[in-house]
Amino acid sequence: MMLLSHETSTIVDPFTLWSLGYEQADKLVKYGAEQLQEENPVCYTEMKTIIKSLFNTPHQQDSYHQLTRSEQTTIFRLRTGYNRLNQRLHKVMKVVQYPMCSCGEAEQDTAHLLQSCKMYQALIDKIWHSETPLKEKLYGPVDALQKQRWI
Ligand SMILES: [Zn+2]
Repeated sequence: MMLLSHETSTIVDPFTLWSLGYEQADKLVKYGAEQLQEENPVCYTEMKTIIKSLFNTPHQQDSYHQLTRSEQTTIFRLRTGYNRLNQRLHKVMKVVQYPMCSCGEAEQDTAHLLQSCKMYQALIDKIWHSETPLKEKLYGPVDALQKQRWI
């Protein structure tokens, strides 16, 4: 499949777009789609999907992208704070009365849950064997990220 470049008014193959970098390629295709509304057989959304698929291989083979969909969801929620821990349920969702963890020692957030909650300390020690930085647990290699399956 070929796409039109607005800068050169020539046909650009997907690998050229791939080499441009996502943002630049996206702008290029969007512009091309606007210019060729009638003649262009591939709509902007389709082009965007094609470009995204080009960018998904093999550059995004970092540890996060090697996880299963379910594991990715867990890591995403832990990284972003969009989770069901009490801190968010209290402050953002306003569906629980207190942000505190059940252990009573701190607000229940990702760092507390993975690093210092005494209720889960035995389990965490069993999984990790030694003290491990939070960054390793959330952004480390695949096997490190997969250890968050207990959550
Ligand atoms: Zn706790």
